[in-house]
Amino acid sequence: MLEIKNLHVKLEEEDKVILKGVNLTIEPGTVHAIMGPNGSGKSTLSYVLAGRDGYEVTDGSASLEGEDLLTMEPEERAAAGLFLAFQYPVEIPGVGNMTFLRTALNAQRKARGEAELSAGDFLKLARSTAASLKIDADMMKRPVNVGFSGGEKKRNEIMQMALLQPKMCVLDETDSGLDVDAMKLVSEGVNALRDAGRSFLVITHYQRLLDHIKPDVVHIMADGRIIQTGGPELALEVENNGYADLLAGGK
Ligand code: ADP
Ligand code: MG
Ligand code: MG
Repeated sequence: MLEIKNLHVKLEEEDKVILKGVNLTIEPGTVHAIMGPNGSGKSTLSYVLAGRDGYEVTDGSASLEGEDLLTMEPEERAAAGLFLAFQYPVEIPGVGNMTFLRTALNAQRKARGEAELSAGDFLKLARSTAASLKIDADMMKRPVNVGFSGGEKKRNEIMQMALLQPKMCVLDETDSGLDVDAMKLVSEGVNALRDAGRSFLVITHYQRLLDHIKPDVVHIMADGRIIQTGGPELALEVENNGYADLLAGGK
């Protein structure tokens, strides 16, 4: 599904190298987790995959189902099936949440040569999706994320994901700022989307999210590289011992 080879990334504006040779292969239908200390490059990896400005790829490659992601515009990546749920979802004053979601969904359908959803069909789909994520109708009418609590913003990210039905979902610290109940809701939303043709990359600081979203593979990232890969037990090891032992072993 996703293949990243020897990816090197630096900041465009500064001579700061952030990713120093990331290798990652994600098979269809699998859930991979990336854990790692603050500043190790986890968010940068997700931004580079999504095509955010400000980063320069100096070496390596990233492809989605064999298609080169790095030469695509961000909206082409989305149309190809990539989705990024942000660590810090942005507020968009003046744009209603429903309008935003419908525009995003119809843009994706158009890019794929599919017919746009009618207002009525979209409303039905949005309402049932919102209800399943326990998002109330009021929140749907407000401007995107404006005045939403941390938990509401994260649930709104999952709402976008549920509507767009991407193939490769990247979740960057979707658990940060969530209380236990909100984390369960978000996890249930993710688990409901798990299927044989869809993969997930779950970036998280804490093992507790992985109690709810069970990963197939766990990677540890440090200083711009993946230094260890294992099964779910690797996340438990981090929970119990911190990163110190792994960092010492990985150098
Ligand atoms: P993580 O998500 O693992 O905490 P990040 O990818 O956010 O790590 O950051 C990796 C490193 O790159 C950090 O040292 C961070 O300060 C730096 N960095 C990332 N983006 C920028 C930027 N736009 N400007 C300056 N420094 C940045
Ligand atoms: Mg961070
Ligand atoms: Mg981050």
